[in-house]
Amino acid sequence: MKPGFSLSYYVDGVLSGNRVVLGQAITLVESFLPKDQENAGAVLEKILPDTGKSIRVGVTGVPGVGKSTFIEALGLYVVRQEKKIAVLSIDPSSPLTKGSILGDKTRMEELSKNPNAFIRPTASGLAIGGVANHTREAMLLCEAAGFDVIFVETVGVGQSEVSVKKMVDFFLLLMLAGAGDELQGIKKGIMEMADAIAITKADGDNIKKASEAQADYQHALHLFSTPDSGWKPKVLTTSALSGDGIDKIWKVIQQYRDQTEKSGYFDQNRSDQNIAWFHDCFDQLVRADLSQHQSVRSNLISLEEEIRQSKLSARSAAQQLLDRYHQAIQKP
Ligand code: GDP
Repeated sequence: MKPGFSLSYYVDGVLSGNRVVLGQAITLVESFLPKDQENAGAVLEKILPDTGKSIRVGVTGVPGVGKSTFIEALGLYVVRQEKKIAVLSIDPSSPLTKGSILGDKTRMEELSKNPNAFIRPTASGLAIGGVANHTREAMLLCEAAGFDVIFVETVGVGQSEVSVKKMVDFFLLLMLAGAGDELQGIKKGIMEMADAIAITKADGDNIKKASEAQADYQHALHLFSTPDSGWKPKVLTTSALSGDGIDKIWKVIQQYRDQTEKSGYFDQNRSDQNIAWFHDCFDQLVRADLSQHQSVRSNLISLEEEIRQSKLSARSAAQQLLDRYHQAIQKP
C-alpha cells in the first residue's frame, strides 16, 4: 500500500463513512496494478460483513431520456427521507471516441453538493466486464460506508444493462413518450428485464403523450411472462422538472423490496448474483493467467486463423488451447 495508506486506513475510513477514503478505496479497487488488486482484495474481505444492507437500484435509458436529471430529483427526494444515497455511473464510451456519454461533472450538481449523497463515475474505456466488477466492488464499499440506497446508472445502448441487471435488486428503465422503441434503441430484452418503466418528461405539452405511452407499455408488459421475482413490472410517468411521480417511483421500489423480501426472492437473488459473480471473477482470472503465457497467446492467434479459414471447429480449437495451457503451466 502507499505510505500512510494501510489496510486499516482504508477499512476504518470506509466503515466510518469518510467520503474521501471511500473515494480512495474505490480508486484502489479500480486499479489494475497487481499490488493494488491484492490490497483491494484485503480491504473488501474486511468490509464484507458490513455490506448488503442497501437497496441496489439500476437505472438505464438512452442518452437524453433524462437519467441524470431524474436520479438527481429522486436522489434529493430520498435524501429528504433521512437516507444516504450513492450514485455509481457506468459509462461504456468507447476508448476510441474518448467521448463520455454520461457527460461531465455538471451532472447532478445539486445532489453532488449534498452531504448525504456520493456520486462516482466508473472509469470509462474499459471492457464492460471489467467495469461491472469495479462497480460491484464500489457498491460494496458504499454499503460498508453506510449508504442506504445505491443507484447504478448506465446508458441503455448495449451490453452494460445486462451486467447491471445482474448486480442490482431493482431495475428501472427510463423511456421517452412518443419516440418509439426502435428510435430509442431499447431492445425487447431490456424491457423484459425491467421491474419498472418510467416515462420521463411528463410535463407541459408532454403529459398526454406520456400517459398514452404508459398505457402502451403497460399493455406490452402484459405480454411478457411473469418474472422469477413474482413481481408484476409497473409503468409510471414522471417529471424530474415538476417532481411529479418521483414519490410514486420511490414507493414502487419500496413495495418491490417488501414483496420480494417476504417471498424470499430478494435474498435468493442476491446469493444467486454472488455465485454468478464468483464464476465471472474466476473466468477472468483464468483468462488473465492464460494470457501470461507467450506460447498460449501465439497458439490462440493461430487457432483463430484456422477457425477463420474453416480448417478447425471452435470446439476443437478450444480443446487444443486448453491442452496448450495445461502444458504451459506444467513447465513454465
Ligand atoms: P441523460 O442523458 O439521460 O442523463 O439526460 P439528462 O438528464 O441530461 O436530460 C436530457 C435533457 O432532457 C436535458 O436538456 C434536460 O434538461 C431535459 N430533461 C430532463 N428531465 C426532464 C423533465 O422531467 N422534463 C423536461 N421537460 N425536460 C427534462
